[in-house]
Amino acid sequence: MLPLEFSDALIQQLRGIQGEQTLVEFPDSVAAENDAVVVCSFLTTVYLTLDGRVLEVDLLEENAIPVVLVEPNDIWRALTVAARSFQSQELLDLLPRRHESGTDCPQCQALRWIQFGDQKQPSDKPGTVVCPQCHGLGWV
Ligand SMILES: [Zn+2]
Repeated sequence: MLPLEFSDALIQQLRGIQGEQTLVEFPDSVAAENDAVVVCSFLTTVYLTLDGRVLEVDLLEENAIPVVLVEPNDIWRALTVAARSFQSQELLDLLPRRHESGTDCPQCQALRWIQFGDQKQPSDKPGTVVCPQCHGLGWV
């Protein structure tokens, strides 16, 4: 499955996002050096390179070197986040199709995401994270 196979249309879309990120956000040397878009950045920054690799940089480590992610779970999570951020059905379509014996994920009810946080407090908006059980597939 690696590297991921991107269609020309998807690469074009990602190039557009890359352009926006370069204009709007803090210049990211890893994205520039690896021809990548930033998928998300929390404790680590995750990148999708336009040649179909997923990179991760540990922000807590000084001068950290990007690591190429190869574990399917990590790839699926990155694709799920990127698909939502970039509103790309094509990125979601790169996830493995449900096996015949697959069932809806019991933790996220096939939604790919779970909510956390107290939804009863209006000031405390619930956040969402990729489902830790199915890693964004929506099925198990
Ligand atoms: Zn799930």
